[in-house]
Amino acid sequence: MEGTGRALGDEEAGALLGREPGDLVLGRLGEVHYWASRLPDDHDEPDASPQQVGDLRSLHGLLSDEEWNIAGRATQLLEWQRDHQFCGRCGRPNEAMPDTRAMRCPHDGTMVFPRLSPAVIVLIERADGRCLLGRNRGWDIPMYSTLAGFVEPGESLEDTVHREVFEEVGVRVDNIRYFGSQPWPFPNSLMLGFVAEWTEGEIKVDGEEVIDAQWFSPNDLPMIPPRLSIARQLIDDWLDRVRPIS
Ligand SMILES: [Zn+2]
Repeated sequence: MEGTGRALGDEEAGALLGREPGDLVLGRLGEVHYWASRLPDDHDEPDASPQQVGDLRSLHGLLSDEEWNIAGRATQLLEWQRDHQFCGRCGRPNEAMPDTRAMRCPHDGTMVFPRLSPAVIVLIERADGRCLLGRNRGWDIPMYSTLAGFVEPGESLEDTVHREVFEEVGVRVDNIRYFGSQPWPFPNSLMLGFVAEWTEGEIKVDGEEVIDAQWFSPNDLPMIPPRLSIARQLIDDWLDRVRPIS
């Protein structure tokens, strides 16, 4: 289709490539086309087959970053499709739109798009060369990480950083800089990473979400999140900046 390139809708691509209706076109990476299909609830694990079957968490680190992101995209889109079969306004069945990633109610035109939940994740540093990391109540290992929280309607990302930091550890920050982002499909987050500078306040954890938080020096870091995570990328970036060049 070179020269006349255009995106194929699910139906059209499905007809061309012989896929089942209901399968989702995810897109193409290099020469490989990716699709998402729902396994029946009672499917058998094909352990002698060349396919790899596993849930998304168990595949983290086993697939390449790119493939894992594609798997995350597949999971989120299939779950969104499953959970929006009916119109939230009138209760009638929705229909998948042919050319747009959306479900639509043919009765009243209500449309629903795949859900994304933006969340900020922030590394707080201070002028004495330490950074603030917190321990989350839900973790069963003694790990410390950057602080994170969901964006609420009406907030700018900077507003969320200020609010979450103050709620979770009681300190004030300033000079918020964007770092980078990472899709995180549990269940549908988009993590937006920031670095911020401490301005005032002693650490006072909320005790609900964060059960401990401390200032750490590069040389006495606690257990930190594994590679691949944006939390770890934020910490590694901070280490690169504060560690003296040896
Ligand atoms: Zn409706």
